[in-house]
Amino acid sequence: MQRKPVIAGNWKMHRTRKESEELAASLRRKLDGHRDVEVVVCPPYTALDVAAEALKGSSIRLGAQNVHWEDEGAYTGEISAWMLEDCGCEFVILGHSERRQHFRETDEQVNLKLRRALESSLTPILCVGETLEERGRQRVEDVVLGQLEQAVDKLTAESLSRIIVAYEPVWAIGTGETATPETAEEVHSMIREWLAEVFSQELSQRLRILYGGSVKPDNISGLMAQPNIDGALVGGAGLDADSFAGIVRF
Ligand code: PEP
Repeated sequence: MQRKPVIAGNWKMHRTRKESEELAASLRRKLDGHRDVEVVVCPPYTALDVAAEALKGSSIRLGAQNVHWEDEGAYTGEISAWMLEDCGCEFVILGHSERRQHFRETDEQVNLKLRRALESSLTPILCVGETLEERGRQRVEDVVLGQLEQAVDKLTAESLSRIIVAYEPVWAIGTGETATPETAEEVHSMIREWLAEVFSQELSQRLRILYGGSVKPDNISGLMAQPNIDGALVGGAGLDADSFAGIVRF
């Protein structure tokens, strides 16, 4: 099955509104109309509206970096799915390792967020990945499939049909160290096999599995040459329009 590649940029807690507008406009000039790849940018909440305006009518799509599972209420500091839709978001990153690590986000919370996102129009980009210590203890399979299993708890193959999974080994995020294409492919094919066993062959062939962890213009081609790598979730290199465009044009 042909899966359209996705390259998503996670801007994390970077860029003011003005800077975000400039970055989005610059990406638009470089990448608008690039139809072979689905291009997504995820600015901080404060810049979603200016980025939406700068990208309006282009082929570049907007995403957020997190969402709460409730629609509204006394949840200081949180943002709900419909608020993101209201800002023009079509995607949302869930369970990023920085949220798990710094904000103690649990698998149960990721599950609640995923379920809520799937009730909305948002396409979730669900992140899973092991730490260096877990890899050293040969626990990659347990950790990655464990995170996946808990995230998709109570969901059916049908409801999962539009999710995107991002395999992001924690030791490769923001470190300049990338998993080799072969190492990443091993985990990607393991995830795909698991999806086939637990849900269906059809779902496993349809879902896109992105790699994330120090992706740059000079290492993207090797990763994309692997049969089970369908794109990338990009952090640092997504903040520079030339680098991000270089990745999209792999
Ligand atoms: C990320 O934050 O999802 C990421 C992969 O970051 P970087 O590309 O900087 O490693």
